Amino acid sequence: MKTCDIAIIGLGLMGSAALHELARRGADVLGFDPLAIGAARGSSHGSCRIFRRFNFESEAYTALSDRAFAGWRALESASGQTVLMPSPILEAGPPGCELVAKSRAAAAAAKSRIMGPRNGREANAAFPAFNLPEDWDVVVNDSGGILLAERALRAFRAGAEDRVILETAQIAPTPSGIRITTTREEIMAAQVIVSAGPWVADLVPSLRPHLMVTRQAVGWFAPARPETTAYGEFPIFILDGARGMVYGFPDFEGRGVKAAQHDHGPVVGADQWEPPASDLELDIPSATLAELVPGAAGAVIDRDICLYTNTAKADVIVDDGNEFIIDRLPADPRIIVASPCSGHGAKFATAIGAMLADMALDPKLKAIDAFRLDRFSNFA
Ligand SMILES: Cc1cc2nc3c(=O)[nH]c(=O)nc-3n(C[C@H](O)[C@H](O)[C@H](O)COP(=O)(O)OP(=O)(O)OC[C@H]3O[C@@H](n4cnc5c(N)ncnc54)[C@H](O)[C@@H]3O)c2cc1C
Repeated sequence: MKTCDIAIIGLGLMGSAALHELARRGADVLGFDPLAIGAARGSSHGSCRIFRRFNFESEAYTALSDRAFAGWRALESASGQTVLMPSPILEAGPPGCELVAKSRAAAAAAKSRIMGPRNGREANAAFPAFNLPEDWDVVVNDSGGILLAERALRAFRAGAEDRVILETAQIAPTPSGIRITTTREEIMAAQVIVSAGPWVADLVPSLRPHLMVTRQAVGWFAPARPETTAYGEFPIFILDGARGMVYGFPDFEGRGVKAAQHDHGPVVGADQWEPPASDLELDIPSATLAELVPGAAGAVIDRDICLYTNTAKADVIVDDGNEFIIDRLPADPRIIVASPCSGHGAKFATAIGAMLADMALDPKLKAIDAFRLDRFSNFA
């Protein structure tokens, strides 16, 4: 039977980053995924994701963002291509807004000085596409970027094509290794990284109680005043208003302003990608643009569906939920699982890929505490 030291099941941003890192370090690694790059499936598909250095989810993420940033620049050097386009990030909400306060606190904890608009009035003057209430709290971080997700996937895989098997794989632990089965062959691996995005619980069912897959509709809007929303003139934005959290990008690809509501859709199965996003599902970003970003408001000219895989709150320690899972399975440490989504994992892919490579190459290495499985009582 064919063998390898490390098999990676799932080559979205996380699995592809791990593949890139392990191949770079000379490991005997194979990656499995039935999806060709560009297919509109998997949580990493599409042109872009937001890179934030300062994360309102937790200021503890700054170090991971910084490691990832160095990784993105290294990937750019290796591939000769831009994968992270610098962009300011404007975050705003009504007076007292938690999103803004947490982002400011994360920047302060990193001893970073925040420049630029601090309220709605100043933001409207600096970026004429906006019409924010004048008293809104605003923070603008100049350390963000547009992560070119599909381009990053291609860059991760470049040079490792001969290690990619375009097949769905199943795993079965045996005393002599983990048996990987596809429709064409069986391969025995000493270790496995399972980075299967919304499908991860199909391969590791003990994760299912802690994960929730949800449908997310995304739209591209024809900007009413394109000169105000071009890349370089207009920031990435995250607005936490009465309708919920809505984020968007400058029109950096000539396709309109991409905007969506964060974390809004119903629970679905990992194979439920249809129907296409409806006008109703895009109502909230549409109305938010019309009221708060009129320069970007306009007809929906493109749409997409993506899936978030959200993590439940821990029950052994206290956390806010939506924290990543990256760990060895306590019942079989040859299996490393990676579920870093909850709608904010992409930016960290280079750092997480390196972390997965470190763990696969050093069986004694433990996962970062916050990401460990023993925070859930069924793994403790
Ligand atoms: C709408 C949306 C917006 C987002 N915005 C941001 C953002 O702005 N910033 C940010 O940082 N993050 C963002 N995220 C989150 C980010 O995209 C995810 O954290 C990231 O894509 C997860 O990557 P992954 O590799 O874990 O999963 P995936 O990309 O889903 O990859 C999993 C892969 O596993 C494969 N697979 C599944 N089962 C098998 C099997 N049995 N055998 C072989 N292969 C298998 C699948 O085909 C798939 O390619 C967003 C997510 C969505 C959906």
